[in-house]
Amino acid sequence: MNRVLIVEDEEHLAAGLRLNLEAEGFVVEVEENGQVALDRLTSDADRFDVVLLDVMLPGLDGFAVVRRLREAGRFVPVMLLTARSHADDVLAGFEAGADDYLPKPFDLPILLARVQGLLRRKTWLLSHAASGPEELEEFAFAGKRIDFREQMLYWDGTTQPLTLMEATLMRYFVRRAGHTVSRKALLEEVWGVREDTDTRTIDNFIARLRRYLEAEPSHPKHLQTIRGVGYRFVAEPDQVETRGSAGPGS
Ligand code: CA
Repeated sequence: MNRVLIVEDEEHLAAGLRLNLEAEGFVVEVEENGQVALDRLTSDADRFDVVLLDVMLPGLDGFAVVRRLREAGRFVPVMLLTARSHADDVLAGFEAGADDYLPKPFDLPILLARVQGLLRRKTWLLSHAASGPEELEEFAFAGKRIDFREQMLYWDGTTQPLTLMEATLMRYFVRRAGHTVSRKALLEEVWGVREDTDTRTIDNFIARLRRYLEAEPSHPKHLQTIRGVGYRFVAEPDQVETRGSAGPGS
């Protein structure tokens, strides 16, 4: 049974969400105050499977709640709900460490689908049973190791926890290593977003991953920008360069 924490100070909206999520089989709890919600989420980390987090809240706003949650090493999936739909707010939400974002007003079926999507991705990452070739628990490259089940990146004695979306995005790239993937494909297949979403969301995530992966984030070798198209993950860039330089014409 999945537990949802709704952090929302508009009573009627919180009540409507509770009703609908309970009808879908969720166990639902509601907090109205950002600070109180943060305290609960940090002290009782494993209680909730997903958090629906309003941005405009008394106590502490949603951006600050998710940022402090991540700083405290808590990586429960968080979906931000906000009436503001400016691109900068979306980016601020993802920059703070949110996993998904839904502008108000939203249709309930869409909200439910997105919540299920977050839970599916979590299950997908956690599933270590039945690991066929499609499943990937770990990936080692260039002195680094990603544990997708634990959502951890390790290198040189450093341990970097990844958010659900960071880990999901990395797994998507790893499975397509060496191939260019478009922003559109990333939005659809990683975020499950088909509506017209600002693709800078992705650029923001890439910037965060580069801070973990790249020796020089401004000159990325692993997560390369393919101008006008998207990105390409290269696991061992030095080997590719060596092979390239041995080719014809060099
Ligand atoms: Ca509010």
